Amino acid sequence: MSSLSYEFDVVVVGAGHAGIEAALAAARMGMRTALLTMNADTVGAMSCNPAIGGVAKGQIVREIDALGGEMGKCIDATAIQFRMLNRGKGPAMHSPRAQADKKHYQFTMKRIVEETPNLTLRQETVEGLLIETIGEKRRVRGVVARGDTVYRAAAVVFTTGTFLKALMHTGEAKTRGGRAGDQTTEALSECLTDCGFELARFKTGTPCRLNGRTIDFSKLEEQPGDDDPRPFSFATEKITQTQVSCHITHTNEAVHELIRANLDRAPMYSGQIRSCGPRYCPSIEDKVVRFAERESHQIFLEPEGRNTLEYYCNGISTSLPKDVQQAMLRLIPGLEKAEVMRWGYAVEYDYAPPTQLHATLETKRVDGLYFAGQINGTTGYEEAGAQGLMAGTNAALKIQGKPPLILDRSQAYIGVLIDDLVTRGVDEPYRMFTSRAEYRLLLRHDNADRRLSPLGRRAGLVNDVDWARYERKVDVIGKLTGLLRSRKHEGESLEKHLKRTETEWEQIVAWCPDVQEFPPGVIEQVILEAKYAGYIDRQTAQVERFQRLESKAIPMTFDYAAVPQLRIEAKEKLTRIRPGSVGQAGRISGITPADLAVLLIYLE
Ligand code: FAD
Repeated sequence: MSSLSYEFDVVVVGAGHAGIEAALAAARMGMRTALLTMNADTVGAMSCNPAIGGVAKGQIVREIDALGGEMGKCIDATAIQFRMLNRGKGPAMHSPRAQADKKHYQFTMKRIVEETPNLTLRQETVEGLLIETIGEKRRVRGVVARGDTVYRAAAVVFTTGTFLKALMHTGEAKTRGGRAGDQTTEALSECLTDCGFELARFKTGTPCRLNGRTIDFSKLEEQPGDDDPRPFSFATEKITQTQVSCHITHTNEAVHELIRANLDRAPMYSGQIRSCGPRYCPSIEDKVVRFAERESHQIFLEPEGRNTLEYYCNGISTSLPKDVQQAMLRLIPGLEKAEVMRWGYAVEYDYAPPTQLHATLETKRVDGLYFAGQINGTTGYEEAGAQGLMAGTNAALKIQGKPPLILDRSQAYIGVLIDDLVTRGVDEPYRMFTSRAEYRLLLRHDNADRRLSPLGRRAGLVNDVDWARYERKVDVIGKLTGLLRSRKHEGESLEKHLKRTETEWEQIVAWCPDVQEFPPGVIEQVILEAKYAGYIDRQTAQVERFQRLESKAIPMTFDYAAVPQLRIEAKEKLTRIRPGSVGQAGRISGITPADLAVLLIYLE
């Protein structure tokens, strides 16, 4: 039987959040790109909660958008509720979040993929890699899909999510599959270990979904969206759709007692699951054990869309058996009569420890092979989307013979994310927090375009329309700043007045009504930069110090073993991670200032 063979520049495996951004980026950069996925009906599927954004994750979505990615535009078009979290805190903490219409989001993404020139979406299960070995070096040449269909390409991006050797658990019941209703791939894990990759296992979980017709909303607290919904994408002028409310209820002592009595049937506690799950996103059984003193835990009931009555129970992720899940609901106010539509479950899957990657997300073992998303030990749609965008972009840049796009920790949360992954690795599913970023006052959601759009444009990611809008905005920010500098009140420039804590914008408007003519996004930038000028200057000075060490490059071929003054532990770790700079070397756990001093002498 003859097998089919196709030629592409880039092949992306998996059409989840990472795969979509990777494929769109490569195709937009002119690469002939194939996006191969097990099930074309689940392109952009939200495996867990129907929401995009949140603390630190919202900032990442804005960064994806600023770089020319799709997630922000898609959620703006399809969300059913928008909330700016942490409004009461400083601007570094403001984080946009939106409740998605899950199916609308998914099909909007699929349509964008379908409409993108240079991009072929195809339902295929990839089971093998084509690898060429030349001496010590190994290069990827493509992939093989089930049925021996060959896809040749100069670069391959793996974004296989929770699907590698995936096993789902609901109580004692175990089912193979990466997501309820989906399959798993065993062959790809074998193929990666045969190539010499180390794989490990993590687990994650999801709560039950309920039929809204059977929820008693009169007993619940309503949580409406913001009156002035703020878009994620810099391209979206205004959110015009009507918003839908979420509702809040709580667990109680009776629920906790029931869970305690059934812990021996919870796969996490019975020994059935041994892998580690996300600490900050624990299952309800985890919460009850770890926070035994808490009398109740919040549950957000989140609609899954406008055209369904299905509700997601955010806060009670569980792998307890069905009968315990059912009994638990009977004890929760408002859910006493609730009918389950889908049961909660946990899933265990293989991931590839990300210290096996360069900062471009290319693997160190196989040239041209990139990993992005949950396969790198992360969790979350936003973290996945960001990695996909960077992997797809770097794959294309490499094929084009151009320098890679690597963001550092002072430029973007995406830079923090990737640096953490490739430098420190993960010992639990990694999610982004604002506390992971050293320069978070600079990495605000509101200025993501100013930080990143020029870089996205240079790489070929930002389209002409978005770029023209960005240039206009920068120009108008300059004009407003100029106006505030030139206009005076009582002998002092309005800019100086604005910098004072006690001077509100309304006062500036009263002195100079012309400022009202400027767009709100521009006014926001000028106000924030004036009000926080002192802090921003201080962080900018810290960034300059940070960048001095980042700019001291270490050649990838540097022979650490040949430096006698380096300790054995340092030699071993530096050889394994192969940091790109002295700055990155300093962030490897166990590398001391003395090791860095030795390195600096050798490099000079
Ligand atoms: P996915 O969205 O999983 O996409 C992977 C894609 O790869 C799929 O399209 C799949 O079909 C495809 N694929 C896999 N193998 C192959 C192959 N061999 N050939 C072709 N296609 C292939 N995140 C959170 O932030 N918080 C949570 O609480 C949370 N809970 C979760 C609970 C469950 C049960 C699951 C399944 C996921 C959960 N997630 C959670 C994770 C969230 O779904 C992921 O972080 C996110 O979807 C990762 O995006 P991704 O693109 O890496 O992978």
